[in-house]
Amino acid sequence: MIIPFFLRNRGCPHRCRFCNQEISGGTDPRELGADYFHEKVRAFLASAARGKKSKQPVEIAFYGGNFTGLTIREQEDLLRMARRHMENGTVIGVRVSTRPDCLRDEDVERLAVFGVRTVEIGAQSLEDGVLAASGRGHTARDAVAAVAMLKHRGLDVILHLMAGLPGDDGSAFLDTVSRTTALGLRGVRIHPTLVLAGSPLAEDFLQGRYVPLTLPEAVDLCRQAWDILEKARIAIIRMGLQATDILSGPGAVLGGPYHPAFGALVASARWRERTLALIGGADLEGRKAVFFVPPGEESSFRGHGNCNIKFLRNHCRLATLEIKTAVQDFHYLCG
Ligand code: SF4
Repeated sequence: MIIPFFLRNRGCPHRCRFCNQEISGGTDPRELGADYFHEKVRAFLASAARGKKSKQPVEIAFYGGNFTGLTIREQEDLLRMARRHMENGTVIGVRVSTRPDCLRDEDVERLAVFGVRTVEIGAQSLEDGVLAASGRGHTARDAVAAVAMLKHRGLDVILHLMAGLPGDDGSAFLDTVSRTTALGLRGVRIHPTLVLAGSPLAEDFLQGRYVPLTLPEAVDLCRQAWDILEKARIAIIRMGLQATDILSGPGAVLGGPYHPAFGALVASARWRERTLALIGGADLEGRKAVFFVPPGEESSFRGHGNCNIKFLRNHCRLATLEIKTAVQDFHYLCG
């Protein structure tokens, strides 16, 4: 479990075109004072204990800005507050997110000394043209070098990637995902580009200079990305932005494939493809089918709102469709 603290663009050298942390970055105050910090940790742990999750490992995370772009004093103040909870044994580690072009050897050393175990790098894309069009201000080479530097110091790395960035027709995203498989990552976070109110991209969108992905396009691209990463045994830490009241509220997202259960839609799409591949060209019209699904996967097999069940019934003209869990490989029997 992660206790997230959001920096609300602190440490950022400029504003990337798609970014508005006032919408996507939680409700923490801009300055994270000690009282606020420790109370949020205490409340989180108390809530986890009430929910019988007290045995799950907990990490403190600093997201939503450029951690190593803060002054050294600011970084150390935050890391010291987090370290207190490591020392009393209530959290097992600290993680930060940062830009790939803001990591020097001394920054990495500071993070390691203060107990940071994982660094999340906002790479977003490994195509320089897409990075330039997105106003990132760094290159793909910066991201690859940052990953190597962190791994050399023994830190785990999670890469953030985005589908649907300006200048990307989809192929750059999938090519980026393929290239990440060689980097030795602990995991990847993926979310589709949204047009957030107040972001520079919102102006491009309103002027017709940026056309976002549709929801089906985004789901399909992310489904393909998931397949690539799964084959390479790279964990997907998160698919889609965390839904919040602000993000889901009126006027926050002006365009793009926002869905509060985006990850579930992608998981549904993966199971639909897998099921169609399993059935192949078999004629199931009027027959009774029983699908044997691995434990824990029934919900994804069914799809968000049972969309896969409805689709399969119609597509295959099944008389009945039953689901059973089984530890064997995914298979089906037909009566
Ligand atoms: S995307 Fe990251 S680096 Fe860019 S402005 Fe937002 S928080 Fe800062």
